[in-house]
Amino acid sequence: MPDWDQAITGMDLWHLALPVNARRDHGIGSVEHAVDIVVIRLTTEGGLEGWGEASPWVVFTGSAEASYAALDRYIRPLVVGRKLSDRARIMADAQHAVAHCTEAKAALETALLDLMGKAAGLPVSELLGGTYSARIPLSCSIADPDFGRDLALMDRLRADGVRIIKLKTGFKDHAFDITRLEKLRADYPEFDIRVDYNQGLHQDIALACVRDVASFQPSFIEQPVKAHLRELMARIRADIDVPLLADESIFGPEDMALGLSLGIADGVSIKIMKSGGLSRAQSVARMAAASGLSAYGGDMFEAGIAHLAGAHMIAATPEITLGCEFYQASYFLVEDVLASPFPVENGEVVLPTGPGLGIDPNPDVLEKYRRRAEG
Ligand code: MG
Repeated sequence: MPDWDQAITGMDLWHLALPVNARRDHGIGSVEHAVDIVVIRLTTEGGLEGWGEASPWVVFTGSAEASYAALDRYIRPLVVGRKLSDRARIMADAQHAVAHCTEAKAALETALLDLMGKAAGLPVSELLGGTYSARIPLSCSIADPDFGRDLALMDRLRADGVRIIKLKTGFKDHAFDITRLEKLRADYPEFDIRVDYNQGLHQDIALACVRDVASFQPSFIEQPVKAHLRELMARIRADIDVPLLADESIFGPEDMALGLSLGIADGVSIKIMKSGGLSRAQSVARMAAASGLSAYGGDMFEAGIAHLAGAHMIAATPEITLGCEFYQASYFLVEDVLASPFPVENGEVVLPTGPGLGIDPNPDVLEKYRRRAEG
């Protein structure tokens, strides 16, 4: 029997600034130089360590400062002293203790599941219903404002066996998007191409632009307009013959219910950082599948701990059929936080088989990139 009676005795937090190797432009904003994340470590009286990661983006979900404060000030009192077997109640308490801050809640649940898995000798995926698929097709995003650099990345992806890309559109002009699509279709015919606007289109031109892009028959077109313009999403969906995906319009199960009632999408990008945890992400996927929608394993600008959490969630969620985009640890960060590389093999994420998440972070890397107060 796993020792889930042991109490959680400590919580440690790191606010990290992780350097990145390129600039990436999305419809809602850009990332350059570094990404900010928060790493949590829970310790138990039995000597176990459980790890989690909050990966917010200020223009999308929130800030690392808010994640840090949510965990440090409002969630810490709900966790320290509780037993591992209290996970569901701890998560329910955290849901009520602080509004939003979904990334902090995802980090918390990741660390709790990592601990429970280690105590039981089981991978996190087994605690989430069982491993349905231990290999998940990987998608990499193409988002450099310098398309020449992205073409070099395309060649690297091709050599690595990656066969799915997501072209980020709507951050410059329509002609730039069309030119890139023409080039990618002509020179990389073996790739499955998806398109993501990240809300980048103004409502006045959205329909015309999306129609043009749909003529390239990408596998899906994601979130062309602002998150709250749900009726417009539904109109665009009805107008094109390519599946429309919702991302920023759907965070958790509550948004999924609204999205379904308005018919805003044919599929949904599911992220533990949006849903507020792995269990709630599974709920979103099941709601989508029950209504005939497809589901995709999205992510934020994450490091390896969050990638692992997402991979375990997807591995245990057969409703997510469109692969995942956990590419940052391999292709975007200058240095990841994990003690051994996030496992990607021939274009697929390969789920680790060890207890918990399967790979711990390297504490030296956490200290190296810890953000220091500037005095
Ligand atoms: Mg997206």
